[in-house]
Amino acid sequence: MTRPGVHQITLPIPFPLQQVHCYLVETGSGWLLVDAGFPSEEARHGLDEAIRRLVGGWDSVVGVIVSHFHPDHSGLAGWIQQQAEIPVYIHEKDFEQLQSMRGMMDEGRSPMDSGPFASLPRDSQPEWERMRETREPFASFAIEPTLVQGGETFNIDGRELELIWTPGHTEGHLCIYDRADDLLFTGDHLLQRITPHIGLWSPGDTNPLIQFEESCRLVEKLNPGYALPAHEADVEQPADRSMEIREHHQTRRVEILDAVASGANTGYKISRVVFARRTEPMQQFMALSETLAHLDALVVEDRLTRSEDEDPIYALV
Ligand SMILES: [Zn+2]
Repeated sequence: MTRPGVHQITLPIPFPLQQVHCYLVETGSGWLLVDAGFPSEEARHGLDEAIRRLVGGWDSVVGVIVSHFHPDHSGLAGWIQQQAEIPVYIHEKDFEQLQSMRGMMDEGRSPMDSGPFASLPRDSQPEWERMRETREPFASFAIEPTLVQGGETFNIDGRELELIWTPGHTEGHLCIYDRADDLLFTGDHLLQRITPHIGLWSPGDTNPLIQFEESCRLVEKLNPGYALPAHEADVEQPADRSMEIREHHQTRRVEILDAVASGANTGYKISRVVFARRTEPMQQFMALSETLAHLDALVVEDRLTRSEDEDPIYALV
């Protein structure tokens, strides 16, 4: 559905979701771009063509807001800055993430070297190796960021846009609220058909699931009239959909407790019980990080114990 002063630009991505939506939002002095697309030749061409067709070219674009650091949202931001000298806004936590990702690639380390991820079948590795060798999808993310923390309001000639920090899917995820039109751009925080991926990648992460659920409550309290997500269909009843997603994670907690009760005791073994149907290497990787996020929440909530091992053992309380 089209909204006044908003253009949706749909670009291809090389992931199962196939497409990402970027949005152009009109302000009195130009257009703000929400999300930048994946750094492939195809997406770059699509974005460039859309900008020319919809608003006459990059001169009409006043800035880019990146909802989060994942390559399908941030990947073309560096290239955009080569076309137009405009600010790229990103949450400081997500910029940190991006830098540590690069550091890991530079040092030749893989997220699957240690801890629970080391239990994954080794054929989950080639994807990472390929990414590291080509440095795609991060190579073109050579941005000069304008770091934000959420809470900032852009008041550009009559259009007020508020950045709302919604950690969970990533630690620095941002939603963008257009108060006048009661419209929320939700990035990957709130999606209509699928639930956003919530993963724990390293033991230092700060309770991504609990953070995500708090961010959901924040959106429910804001109760926007309509939401435009970065993937698939619009969210017509954002607060209801948000509650549904929180409900889903409660059900998932129960499934995980059941798996532990049945004898599975490491992140990998539990993920194979709960996500038994996810057999592709990349799916197994995602299933494990999602399982670890739920296990982490259950430990914080005193429903499970976790040993100090590098690959921790979980037990019912
Ligand atoms: Zn994402």
